[in-house]
Amino acid sequence: DPRADCPPDVEVLGRSSWTLLHSIAATYPETPSRTQQADLLRFVDLFAKLYPCWVCAEDFQAYAAARVPRVASRDEFGIWLCGAHNEVNRKLGKKEFDCSKWLERWKTGPKDGRCD
Ligand code: FAD
Repeated sequence: DPRADCPPDVEVLGRSSWTLLHSIAATYPETPSRTQQADLLRFVDLFAKLYPCWVCAEDFQAYAAARVPRVASRDEFGIWLCGAHNEVNRKLGKKEFDCSKWLERWKTGPKDGRCD
């Protein structure tokens, strides 16, 4: 790939950022402590402020202000994040993702074992 060493464009940055975000959701505790919940809220807030694509960051901040991140459990946060990602998918004319599948996509892998 001739662009392998180039600075990331909005797409490369987006794919790797969603991978990080959904992976954080996948490893977040099922019953987080108060501190873990507070940390995740601060992380999302700062991530939304520092995301290095300014239009993206503005829209993500607006989304997180309108629909406050739900951090009381792994599944709550995973579904919240899936909704945030779907909002961007809609904006870009991409297919919406079925949020009942978020844990399979980002943690357990498909039942046929091809990711094991
Ligand atoms: P991506 O959207 O990067 O998704 C990667 C993989 O995640 C998919 O292949 C799929 O398996 C899985 N997935 C898809 N939807 C979901 C979901 N809802 N829940 C769980 N998993 C899912 N780009 C812009 O051009 N304009 C923007 O304003 C913009 N805002 C962004 C804001 C944020 C916070 C982030 C992280 C990215 C943003 N992007 C934006 C980038 C954009 O979302 C995509 O990452 C980029 O277009 C590459 O898309 P992709 O088709 O490779 O798949």
